[in-house]
Amino acid sequence: MAIKRPSKSLGTPVRRPVTSPGLRHVEVRLPHQMVPEDLYLGWLCKNRSCGRVIAIALTQAGSKPASAESEDQLAAIKCPHCGDEDLYRWSARSEHKYTMRSAGT
Ligand SMILES: [Zn+2]
Repeated sequence: MAIKRPSKSLGTPVRRPVTSPGLRHVEVRLPHQMVPEDLYLGWLCKNRSCGRVIAIALTQAGSKPASAESEDQLAAIKCPHCGDEDLYRWSARSEHKYTMRSAGT
């Protein structure tokens, strides 16, 4: 007869933090807050079927300019147009013209 040992539980679940510290939170404009043919600071959606401008919502007036150390952070941004979430490099933001129609050509 084999001696029955109490089984040791080795697989203790490791709790991971939900938010990763390297990502910055960015507020984006909603589509109804954007005017077609206007220039907005932000990124173009990585979703090829969307490709529209994801505009950074302006923070409160008189906000401090972004410090240099935070320039190359990644931001997890959800596109307000198609709902796709992707990572965008903060330093890669630039001005884009917001167009309603998708780039067909
Ligand atoms: Zn999109």
